[in-house]
Amino acid sequence: MANRYSAFSLLKHALTGAPWQRAWRSPQPKSSYDVIIVGGGGHGLATAYYLAANHGIRNIAVLEKSYIGSGNVGRNTTLIRSNYILGGNTHFFEHSMKLWEGLSHALNYNVMVSQRGQIVLAHNPSQLDVLGRKGNTMKLNGIDAQLLDRGDVMRILPYLDFSNECRFPIYGGLLQQRAGTVRHDAVAWGYARAASELGVDIIENCEVTGFLENEGTISGVETTRGRIMAGRTAICVAGHSSRLAAMAGLRLPVESHILQAFVTESIKPLIHHVVTFGADLFYISQSDKGGLVFGGHIDGFNTYTQRGQFPKVQDVAECAVALIPGVSRLRLLRHWGGIQDMTPDGSPFIGRTPVKNLYFNGGWCYQGFKATPASGWCFAHTIAHDDEHPLARHFSLDRHMHGNGFDEYGLGLWTYRQ
Ligand SMILES: Cc1cc2nc3c(=O)[nH]c(=O)nc-3n(C[C@H](O)[C@H](O)[C@H](O)COP(=O)(O)OP(=O)(O)OC[C@H]3O[C@@H](n4cnc5c(N)ncnc54)[C@H](O)[C@@H]3O)c2cc1C
Repeated sequence: MANRYSAFSLLKHALTGAPWQRAWRSPQPKSSYDVIIVGGGGHGLATAYYLAANHGIRNIAVLEKSYIGSGNVGRNTTLIRSNYILGGNTHFFEHSMKLWEGLSHALNYNVMVSQRGQIVLAHNPSQLDVLGRKGNTMKLNGIDAQLLDRGDVMRILPYLDFSNECRFPIYGGLLQQRAGTVRHDAVAWGYARAASELGVDIIENCEVTGFLENEGTISGVETTRGRIMAGRTAICVAGHSSRLAAMAGLRLPVESHILQAFVTESIKPLIHHVVTFGADLFYISQSDKGGLVFGGHIDGFNTYTQRGQFPKVQDVAECAVALIPGVSRLRLLRHWGGIQDMTPDGSPFIGRTPVKNLYFNGGWCYQGFKATPASGWCFAHTIAHDDEHPLARHFSLDRHMHGNGFDEYGLGLWTYRQ
């Protein structure tokens, strides 16, 4: 790498005061590429990187309508885990976890992977049984899991509400020690820099406005910076999936919803894990700067706005206080929204489409950040070989037509329950 980051280069720059090189090049778009990836979020950038690194395809452009990191990759609550129960999910998300574990070295960029552990709480005996079954399934698949009883949880998370008056009593929990958080915008920057080093053109402020289609085959895209031809075109636009796919004539089972994230004022280290409430969709962790970071459900209506509504702020705050009463004394510093692409079964799509030379990656619902490395890895394979990767076959676009919904914990249903 031309501008390799190391302790030595840090020292050299500190002593000489020499400016750092731009992290990635900013080229003008060429008239044609072997592969065009629409969307410079985590999934688009990871796909470009693995296409170049694993498959030797380097004549690639990533077209991003705004700036790198402006989408959900820079808006999420940074949680990663591989505590799934369905066969297809366990192996896919565990592959992602393994890639996270080596990602800073692979990219030569510190993405700040923090395997601080995630604890999912059980608030009644049958929920603890379900967590036990999930933990056993994980262990049988070679994934770390540890069932905790109430005493263990009291010892590890003493700040939770264990009082007799609490609304949701705590019976135990399931710990995945290798789960945790990753600095989300560093993931976008790290993949962008490493892909650019391998020859990928990252073109910001370049919105795709249409596809060049002839007799069911895509040969390029129309953009705000002109027409660009492509051998293969891949869509990775998260919350805008259905809009982009419609431009290519595809009607997807995807709805765009807003999901909010919240950060409090900074406090001394209190929450050393990621804690997930078992009584509602709510999770909390603490950032390196000291703010408590948390989130809950989607707001519950279709929208492309990135500004959240107050009723959801109230719902999420109620969950926080039910779990950790002391949180009520903190001030909420900021909250923001991102546009999520929700599917009927809560699972994503990665693969080919009925349109020749057009590939689709989207529908990530609540789980797209943790999936970023595996998604890029598998999608790059699909584009390079025009065939689905074995780890992602069950995420096919036509699964609903064949009754093969892939519904882990009924997450997808949350879209319609609001
Ligand atoms: C508040 C919130 C919290 C979340 N928390 C978590 C979490 O803790 N863990 C987890 O696993 N997941 C989480 N997610 C989900 C996760 O962030 C997303 O599923 C994932 O980031 C989506 O993939 P992406 O990074 O490629 O998306 P994005 O970063 O949104 O990338 C898509 C890009 O496409 C671009 N684009 C759109 N249209 C066009 C066009 N026409 N032309 C060119 N470019 C275009 C957009 O500008 C955008 O940059 C959360 C999401 C939100 C909103």
